[in-house]
Amino acid sequence: MVNKVQLGKSELFVNPIGLGANAVGGHNLYPNLDEEVGKDLVRTAIENGMNFIDTAFSYGPERSEELIAEVLKESGKRNEVIIGTKIAQKFMDGKKMIDNSPAFLRNEVEKSLKRLQTEYIDLLYIHYPDETTPKDEAIGALKQLKDAGKIRAIGVSNFSPEQLKEANKDGYVDVVQGEYNLLSRSAESSYFPYTIENNIAFIPYFPLASGLLTGKYTTESTFNDLRKGLPYFQEQVFSKNLEKVEQIRNIANQKGVDVAHIVLAWYLKQEAVTAVIPGAKNSEQVLNNLKTLDVQLTNDEILVIDELFRA
Ligand code: NAP
Repeated sequence: MVNKVQLGKSELFVNPIGLGANAVGGHNLYPNLDEEVGKDLVRTAIENGMNFIDTAFSYGPERSEELIAEVLKESGKRNEVIIGTKIAQKFMDGKKMIDNSPAFLRNEVEKSLKRLQTEYIDLLYIHYPDETTPKDEAIGALKQLKDAGKIRAIGVSNFSPEQLKEANKDGYVDVVQGEYNLLSRSAESSYFPYTIENNIAFIPYFPLASGLLTGKYTTESTFNDLRKGLPYFQEQVFSKNLEKVEQIRNIANQKGVDVAHIVLAWYLKQEAVTAVIPGAKNSEQVLNNLKTLDVQLTNDEILVIDELFRA
């Protein structure tokens, strides 16, 4: 039985190993995705007690939410699963725009509820900040939706620390989702002191640096998806990053687990990090990531990894 963790001060309790579902129907992010494989990996997650699934309007767009809804419905486990989804983007004339206005957010929540075939969204994030809406007003609109029972918890993503403070002026923010992994640690100084102090859960995205921190890539690996544009994969740093990842392999080998398990277990030892949502392309990866729950890191190991990835 997994010990569930509370998302900030919200009423939501989740398995600390969740599922990032941007490769479930996320055709605009990854070419040639098979929707049945996507549905199957969500099914595997739910059947194996992974009760925290992260999606967004923009994954597909729309398709990730729709596919998750189909699996949820057939599972009969709606009440056991915590769905986190995100809104803020709109596509106009092929261009992506961001809108945090209360009217837009209210409308998008209704659309998301329909795609998810549900009466409530467990965790609703504003995916990106816009440039004009005062952030406490945007969050005020979500608080009204919460009071109306349409959402259960409020999150923000990709907000600067200043925008987060403005958003949380009335103390309504439950969760922050931001980029954080061993190769990108600025959140430790920019967000963690504030989120810890205000009992806000921090959920890292790109926890595996899009697969790089699994230790399975080599200098020969090439990429034709969103990774082409990610900083971790750029020529100047890629081989250096691979060398750093290799240094975790010793610890993994001693414990008879994979590099990814050590990396994910390390995050869960950080006070600010409540749960992780590694993405998966298939059911095997889902099952594999769940093995993290069996990994115990000693204080020494935590410090060694900390030092390895300081520079
Ligand atoms: P990630 O979790 O860092 O990496 C996931 C990728 O690593 C998988 O797609 C898979 O790619 C590989 N992988 C995962 N488990 C593995 C295993 N056990 N063994 C080997 N390879 C494994 O990156 P991410 O999926 O982009 O980020 C996680 C989630 O965060 C997303 O799914 C999404 O829900 C969310 N997110 C949010 C934002 C935001 O703006 N809020 C931005 C990005 C992501 P391959 O098999 O192709 O190598």
